[in-house]
Amino acid sequence: MLRIKKGDQVKLLAGKDSGKTGNVLNVLASGKIVVEGLNVVNKRMKPKQQGKTGEVVKIPQAVNPSNVLLVCKNCKKPARVGFRDLDSKKVRYCKKCEATN
Ligand SMILES: [Zn+2]
Repeated sequence: MLRIKKGDQVKLLAGKDSGKTGNVLNVLASGKIVVEGLNVVNKRMKPKQQGKTGEVVKIPQAVNPSNVLLVCKNCKKPARVGFRDLDSKKVRYCKKCEATN
């Protein structure tokens, strides 16, 4: 059961962008998550033509899900999430406001 899903808003708790929030672009098979605009590294691409300067591309690096908190869609606060059964389906809920996310 994944705590974080693609499209979620999360707050980063570690690293150089600690305290910033962003949208989850991707969840990798390893469970690590890629957050838009956070934990970005600049990668210099080789110029396509000689004599031109290469582009710098910003690439977000995957972060460990234990280093992020989900920002609740209901109370708009970063909160821990829990799971509970609803109609024999596991649903994610915010431990702050109890809203199902
Ligand atoms: Zn909430």
